[in-house]
Amino acid sequence: MDPESVYKSVVEKDNKYVMPTYGRKPLLFTGGKDSTLIDVFGKEYIDCVAGIAVNATGYANQKLVSAIQEQAARLIHVSNYYYNIPQADLAEKLVNITGLSKVFFCNSGAEANDGAMKLAKLHTKKNSFISTNNAFHGRTIGSLGATANIKYRDPFVPLVKPATFVEYGNASAIEKAVEGDTAGVILEPIQGEGGVHVSNKEYLKEVREICDKKGLVLIFDEVQTGFGRTGKWFCKDHYGVSPDILTMAKGIGGGLPLGAFAARDGLSFEKGEHGTTFGGSPLVCAASLAVIETIEERQLLQNAEQMGRYFMEKLSKMKRDDVVNIRGMGLMIGIELNHECGYFMDAAAQQGVLLNVTAGNVIRLLPPLTIKKEEADRVVAVIESIQKN
Ligand SMILES: *Cc1c(COP(=O)(O)O)cnc(C)c1O
Repeated sequence: MDPESVYKSVVEKDNKYVMPTYGRKPLLFTGGKDSTLIDVFGKEYIDCVAGIAVNATGYANQKLVSAIQEQAARLIHVSNYYYNIPQADLAEKLVNITGLSKVFFCNSGAEANDGAMKLAKLHTKKNSFISTNNAFHGRTIGSLGATANIKYRDPFVPLVKPATFVEYGNASAIEKAVEGDTAGVILEPIQGEGGVHVSNKEYLKEVREICDKKGLVLIFDEVQTGFGRTGKWFCKDHYGVSPDILTMAKGIGGGLPLGAFAARDGLSFEKGEHGTTFGGSPLVCAASLAVIETIEERQLLQNAEQMGRYFMEKLSKMKRDDVVNIRGMGLMIGIELNHECGYFMDAAAQQGVLLNVTAGNVIRLLPPLTIKKEEADRVVAVIESIQKN
């Protein structure tokens, strides 16, 4: 079939059979290499979406592909009733890079946050959580309770129990919101979906102290900021503040569905207290190990840090009079404009650059950690060229 017919038939089937939750762009990708995606017509795009911070090591990473192929041929899934070689190896690795004590494997970011909140409830025998304005923690009934956006949350209330939402970046607002039934605080060290809001060392330190003082469980949601996105394994490493529970997903699995949370010493589920069928299968864990090895071997933490700085410098020199603020850390960058800019996604795609817009007026860049200078130059030039609507 010619590309036009393939495209048409996919769109037709999708419209007919898939629930229309996503508002799809008129794009159909069939392959990729490193930071470049290729559509069905053979057109190339520099990808600053990376499957929403998932494809950290780029497309067609041979180490990752081989690890998946080899593990798939050997053993894809086995029940969590049994031991599993890649899972044990990955658990050890995650404990080493998070500095925490034990991990639980699940399948997504929302599930990781659900599990973390269950663990906090069990540990404290309390039920409520404090979250922050603009927070995004996922779309399950539980994680939605800690997600601020009423557009996502309101149609489903009552949820298990929505969190109390306080201003992000304001530690005393957290202290004031603590009640007798508060089990914990859940925070993104950089808010992603909410518009790339970067916290600071003092904030996280103070929140840590409040949690210690009041006996609350501090959960860092590093689903988006983890696995090198900000130039270190985890964003918390920039701040020297450790949570009681750290949640992970997105970049962890090289595109396979994997989530996890790690908890400090003395905080763990015991037999029967939590579980999932698919979590930590040999296949996804082998993929994750290959992602971690790639990040180490190719020094992608350093690249994320350096390229992040390069991007910031270039972006700050753009000749645009509608930029309010450019912020971020490593390769998690937000460019806030003084107007709604959803149309940038299509306009940039036409010029061969994929980017994302969040919170209505923030262009969000989340490229693979492998991105190169020439690609960054092109991305910035394209952003600079898109006219104010
Ligand atoms: C994407 C995201 C989630 C939800 O992850 P899913 O895998 O989509 O369930 C949770 N928290 C943060 C910070 C995220 O960016």
